[in-house]
Amino acid sequence: MSKKLLVVGAHSADFVWRSAGTVAKCVEQGGIARVLALSYGERGESGELWKENPNRTEEDVKKIRHEQALKAAEILGATFESFDWGDYPMILTDERVAQLTALIREFEPDVILTHTEKDPFNPDHPLAYIAVQRARLLAAGAGVASAFKNIVPPEWYSFEPHQPELSSFLPDTFIDITSVMDKKITAMDCMGAQNYLKSYYTELASRRGNHARRISGKQHVKFAEAHQSMVPRVLANIV
Ligand SMILES: [Zn+2]
Repeated sequence: MSKKLLVVGAHSADFVWRSAGTVAKCVEQGGIARVLALSYGERGESGELWKENPNRTEEDVKKIRHEQALKAAEILGATFESFDWGDYPMILTDERVAQLTALIREFEPDVILTHTEKDPFNPDHPLAYIAVQRARLLAAGAGVASAFKNIVPPEWYSFEPHQPELSSFLPDTFIDITSVMDKKITAMDCMGAQNYLKSYYTELASRRGNHARRISGKQHVKFAEAHQSMVPRVLANIV
């Protein structure tokens, strides 16, 4: 059975900066990766598109952002879709939680990757965290028989936010993305609206690669992505 990864970003480009390597690595190893953007980030994270042409409509920007994210996901071997909930501010309703719950229940991911609980620099990222937290629990139940169809609780990680310390991000999991770093760079190239982030996240992958080498002694790790586990992992044994 192929392992299934679900990445949930508040905005359409979030997955590229924070988890493109992890997505590509999942696919490289025969897994299935599905990227969901709760919105396109058309208002808050598309600055360069608005600067280029202030007469653009939000619908125009959403269309461009959809094409960019779709292309990036395809490069990584993943699918891309958006709930188009709107951004800055994103609103969470019971219907929207139910929509996300239905997707998780239908896809039955082995792993869900999303934002951190805190992000003092973004109004929508913590909302995505809350949405995922609620929907994951509603899809999986409390680990016992329930009155509704429940799935095996997916493992759940936060990917690295832009300002990790100020978002209380404590990395406990490093993914070696060395073999797919070229794909991450090509995917980042698709994000014309936020290209200033490309050099930052390339440097970060190199720095996290250094940490991964120091932690593990695995000298072949050149690039890595850091994540934080939100629930304990249950293993068959310690060795
Ligand atoms: Zn974002």
